[in-house]
Amino acid sequence: MELFDVYSINQININKAKGSYVWDDLGNQYLDMYGGHAVVSIGHLHDHWQKAISDQLQNIAFYSNSVIIPMQQKLAELLGRVCGKHDFRLFLCNSGAEANENAIKLASFHNQRKKVVAFSGGFHGRTSLAVACTDNPSIIAPANETENVIKLPFNDIESLQNCFKTYGNEISSVIVEGIQGVGGIIEADIAFLLDIRTLCDQYNAVYIADSVQCGYGRTGQFFAHDIAGVSADIYTMAKGMGNGFPMGGIICAPKFEARKGMLGTTFGGNHLACVAAISVLEVIEKENLLTNAQTEGDFLIQGLKALPQVKTIRGRGLMIGFEMIDAHSNLKKELLEKFRIFTGEAKNNVIRLLPSLAISRKDCQQFLTSVQTLIDNK
Ligand code: PLP
Repeated sequence: MELFDVYSINQININKAKGSYVWDDLGNQYLDMYGGHAVVSIGHLHDHWQKAISDQLQNIAFYSNSVIIPMQQKLAELLGRVCGKHDFRLFLCNSGAEANENAIKLASFHNQRKKVVAFSGGFHGRTSLAVACTDNPSIIAPANETENVIKLPFNDIESLQNCFKTYGNEISSVIVEGIQGVGGIIEADIAFLLDIRTLCDQYNAVYIADSVQCGYGRTGQFFAHDIAGVSADIYTMAKGMGNGFPMGGIICAPKFEARKGMLGTTFGGNHLACVAAISVLEVIEKENLLTNAQTEGDFLIQGLKALPQVKTIRGRGLMIGFEMIDAHSNLKKELLEKFRIFTGEAKNNVIRLLPSLAISRKDCQQFLTSVQTLIDNK
């Protein structure tokens, strides 16, 4: 059997990892400024994470949500403390798309409405409603198409207000990333997020903060939306949550009423996933990784800003996007080939940096020095 060929891949076989480094099968070492797509939050194979998973494997890996799984409650308490949303409640699932799908569904159960507002440049995953809210027609199959999703220009307050004037009483939810990741590291304006909050309150619609990529401490605040001082009704999360152990979740405000059977999943919240997620939050707290994301992010942004060959730079904390002037448009490829540094990309030649929140100053400096050397050698 062959693999179903849907990914554009580098011909590199990574078979070992530690901290911010990975190694291929030939023994070559790479600096991971991509965090395996914003997933590796506390560093590859962190000792505490590895021990938590291996200890758990001595007892039980999985049982279904038909029994008490005490580590789910422990995770909820810890998450409430670290993100500051003590009175929210947690539903666990397995991926970012599933988190968004459940958030939209919960909102719709709550207010019994059908329409969802989403924005240009947004990415919310590949399940049916999540992909219908995603701004990429090439990944929306005919069966995913729905008239219930209204797409508006991102950061455009006027069109948002007009939309609520026309459809206000039909709008169930607004789904928005605090910083668009796949869209090219585009920040939501604070005024825009505040307006979403106001309109959702006014019309009894639900504010869904897609925090799958921009959340979990990546920007130096737990949720990127926190910068606006707003509290969303539902936050969705996944990537950094398990540091590579597949896991997703939503947290919802007290106003949502749970009903048996309303949401569900076979694998979500299993024993192994929970201990992985608990260990991630323990490390985030113990090692002050939100502060590290802020200081090392600032260091990278300042370093890149100082280079005249960098055309644009956007983002906060360790969610950074930059574009080079045309003469250096191959930088991403050269970083990988000449310096063995992994970075991410987004449309229009944006280089995305999404390293572990535990990245060291030395590694950030190595990245900047490599960029400078490539510029100098051109
Ligand atoms: N939402 C955002 C903002 C994302 O960046 C992604 C994935 O890149 C998703 C949702 C979907 O997450 P997953 O691939 O885990 O389904």
